[in-house]
Amino acid sequence: MAVAERNLILLGAPGAGKGTQAQRLAVRFGIPQISTGDMLRAARREGTPLGKKAEEYMNKGALVPDEVVIGLVEERLGKPDAKAGFILDGFPRTIPQAEALDRMLLGRAPLVVVDIVLSETEVVRRLASRMVCAECGANAVGEGPACHDCGGPLVPRADDREQVVLNRLKVYRDQTEPLIAYYGSRSTYCRIDGARLPDDVTADIIKAVERHR
Ligand SMILES: [Zn+2]
Repeated sequence: MAVAERNLILLGAPGAGKGTQAQRLAVRFGIPQISTGDMLRAARREGTPLGKKAEEYMNKGALVPDEVVIGLVEERLGKPDAKAGFILDGFPRTIPQAEALDRMLLGRAPLVVVDIVLSETEVVRRLASRMVCAECGANAVGEGPACHDCGGPLVPRADDREQVVLNRLKVYRDQTEPLIAYYGSRSTYCRIDGARLPDDVTADIIKAVERHR
């Protein structure tokens, strides 16, 4: 029996737990978690033609243009491990990217769009309370006063100060609102309440994805 193909993208504000959820879903469904950041680094390492092109932009500190990112995603989604599906992280970021993804998926299972929704107040609260180890940089786990890895002191993450958080939120909103408009009316668009425990969020996402198999 053929395995159901599951093609997922995750939308969600910073602090909504996208990374954690993406990891869990990848394991649960046996599909690769594909992040554009990892993909760009891999393409550079492998020295593919697109990787070299991406590297030119990255070396200049410039944004890698849509056509290059789209080419990389297309290559990646054509690899054997993505036949059973994929979970994309950090793509699409723009409408042209979203349109390109739709074209790539012609003849494949429909794209399920998971939008993890969190209020701005909750985003700010979560990000402001995120701590890292001052010694080794590890993310704090649980409530303890010291780092789990090295026992070093915990401090707030440098990029989580309130103004930085508000800026990230604005960038996120500007980027994502058009995508929500693009996907929002589809039957495969799922809004998930992100203001609950990670296990409950995972369970809700799985239920939503199973509905669209
Ligand atoms: Zn540490």
